[in-house]
Amino acid sequence: MVSFRRTCSLLDCGNSSMDFGGTNLKYNTVLAKRTMANVRIIIPTPLRQYAGNRDAVEVEAESVREALTDLVERHDQLRRHLFSEDGRLRNFVNVYVNEEDIRYLERDGTALKGGDTISIVPSIAGGSFSLMDRLAAKRKDVLSPSEIKRYSRHLILPEVGMTGQLKLKQSSALIIGAGGLGVPLTQYLSAAGVGRLGIVDFDVIDESNLQRQVLYSTKDVGRKKLEVAKERVAQINPNVDVQGYETRLTSENALDILKDYDVIIDGTDNFPTRYLVNDASVLLQKPNVYGSIFRFEGQASVFDARRGPCYRCLYSQPPPPGLVPSCAEGGVLGVLPGIVGSIQAIETLKLLLGKEDTLIGRLLVFDALKMKFRELKLRKNPECPICGSNPTIKELIDYEEFCGLRGPSEQVGQELQITVDALKERLDQRHEVILLDVREPMEWEIAHLDRAVLMPVGEVPGRVNELNTADEIVVYCKTGVRSARITNFLRELGFRKVKNLVGGIDEWAEKVEPEMPRY
Ligand SMILES: [Zn+2]
Repeated sequence: MVSFRRTCSLLDCGNSSMDFGGTNLKYNTVLAKRTMANVRIIIPTPLRQYAGNRDAVEVEAESVREALTDLVERHDQLRRHLFSEDGRLRNFVNVYVNEEDIRYLERDGTALKGGDTISIVPSIAGGSFSLMDRLAAKRKDVLSPSEIKRYSRHLILPEVGMTGQLKLKQSSALIIGAGGLGVPLTQYLSAAGVGRLGIVDFDVIDESNLQRQVLYSTKDVGRKKLEVAKERVAQINPNVDVQGYETRLTSENALDILKDYDVIIDGTDNFPTRYLVNDASVLLQKPNVYGSIFRFEGQASVFDARRGPCYRCLYSQPPPPGLVPSCAEGGVLGVLPGIVGSIQAIETLKLLLGKEDTLIGRLLVFDALKMKFRELKLRKNPECPICGSNPTIKELIDYEEFCGLRGPSEQVGQELQITVDALKERLDQRHEVILLDVREPMEWEIAHLDRAVLMPVGEVPGRVNELNTADEIVVYCKTGVRSARITNFLRELGFRKVKNLVGGIDEWAEKVEPEMPRY
């Protein structure tokens, strides 16, 4: 009776049929005297991964039908490779008992005797087996059957088609930064079938990234972004070859990393790297897909000095350090990088496909709060120091210095610094200390020091008369960078007793007031 049940699970009892090369055979279930035989089923190489990596399986069965049913019951993953959804043996799978093709015996009703060997022989030429897939997936000049299925919505687009999809498979793109912009870029470009993706990142996933970097989940906090991104790409599309660069992009390594990619994508969040990526792309004559985000506003463009302007044509100099707050200081709406990064992904695909009408020569500005897209025309600057007619920059420079990040303005003399412990002591001793908070109002709302005065960086020059040069003033921000600048600024104006709180309110929360929320 066990055998009978097995038979029923494969074939629709009483009205079952199997198609072997076009002929439907009807079976009447026979509950006659049964003679079970021990037989051996040889599993072909491409299917072994679905049979626990075994090359043969022993079963007890009366007929080929029973033997195969038993086999797929033990190894369920084999089922879809051997049988179609209606339970018929797939027509590209041939079955032999010893040396005989069962189509010339009793088909799947062929009786078995002890010691028989069943061989499953999938047709290699037209098969859709994973081995075939894996071989074809490695070839750059063809798409495997599973790739055809995967990219079918591209293949039926006249603008992409088979030729375009093969172009994507043969092409490569480098994503610089696996943060807000890098995440959608990584997801969409790998899903779309770009053959080789490079990702440059050395950051670790922080809890504050999760609000917008949707490739990472809560359990990934503390892990390297690059490591998690590589794992996710393998899940999204195992055909993509991912190369990770766990390093900060520098003048020393940039040309070497960028040179192997067709398109460079700038997903960075700081000026030194932005200028570095621009200059390296110009020197290597590669397109640079630009995106940036801040609060509710996003920008995107494509810089390609051979056909249009570069980033320096737009901004030949960076703003002074601190004038433009970073996302950490200014905030960013969670969905915004998803949109800007997706626009960059589209432009990348268009560049790889050789399409016209990219964002070359145009700056797209997106205001999420007003839900408006605007477009500005960008012109090549003939005086551009790197892509103009008489370039003065012929190799990569020191970008930290260029952006003023090594200049004296950021450095505060030792005598102008005060640690959180020292400040605590001053306050405990009831010294008269003015606490000047130079962060933004929203940061103040999260947490601030008792009796502090809020005066955001941008307001200090206009409100300096509210302060007394004779007072002891301690300036603080989140981590001590913005406040250092203000400390120097006040010093220059003649404030003699002004100090910068080292490590800012973040360090205060860590060491002095552990219950204070940190952000
Ligand atoms: Zn330029």
